[in-house]
Amino acid sequence: METKTIIHDLRTKRGLSQDALAEKVFVTRQAVSRWENGDTVPNTETLKLLSGLFGVSINTLLGSPRQLICQCCGMPLEDEMVSREKDGSFNDDYCKWCYADGEYMYSDMDELIDVCVRNMANPEHPEKEVREYLKKTLPTLDYWKRYEQLGDGGKFDEFKQQLIGEINALGVEGMPKVERLNALVGSYVNLAYRLPNGSTVKFLDDSATYLGNQLECEFGGDRCFGVLANMDFILVCTYGENGSDPELVIYKKR
Ligand SMILES: [Zn+2]
Repeated sequence: METKTIIHDLRTKRGLSQDALAEKVFVTRQAVSRWENGDTVPNTETLKLLSGLFGVSINTLLGSPRQLICQCCGMPLEDEMVSREKDGSFNDDYCKWCYADGEYMYSDMDELIDVCVRNMANPEHPEKEVREYLKKTLPTLDYWKRYEQLGDGGKFDEFKQQLIGEINALGVEGMPKVERLNALVGSYVNLAYRLPNGSTVKFLDDSATYLGNQLECEFGGDRCFGVLANMDFILVCTYGENGSDPELVIYKKR
């Protein structure tokens, strides 16, 4: 369907006159008439307003030129699955399960794969097949795209094992052996460390993907160890509940 028909249908379904619609999105009646005649298409700002008003994505208003796919989990997106920002506007990069209330719900690809496998596996597509598919597909999506930069071309599992070896060889007192590393999105793990002069510093890139894990301290207490690494460095820190009050233990260039 073309934009002109889509706007006309949405408007009449809501019982709005051209005048009434024009008023709601701050344009003239003539502008609405031109859209519905196919002479012009609403500009970006107006598309946003129409999207909010009608509860459909901009992609739908434009006649669905793109097949939208959630850039986190890979699910094809229908309008009712598209996520929204806190102000209610659509964010058609993600599904509403991966991005809710303005926040990303998954920072760990392995965890997401476990969730998807539970939902997708069936007698026709057994768990193993679904898992293989997701392992191949997810790293190509925007949300995870830097994931591949972590290992050199396909030797990802090997690289993980090597990192685990290097981390365990550090022999950090009180830290148990690392057994697995998960892919973590930078913005989740980019803690602000306090410097002696009172200011804080962050070491990571919010939009990059790192390998890491959280480990309980062997001596008990309420602080955890956090391990993070990529091709360039290994970082070990400790922190309190929810990443509060972090302290750097080791930052080592590789
Ligand atoms: Zn999703």
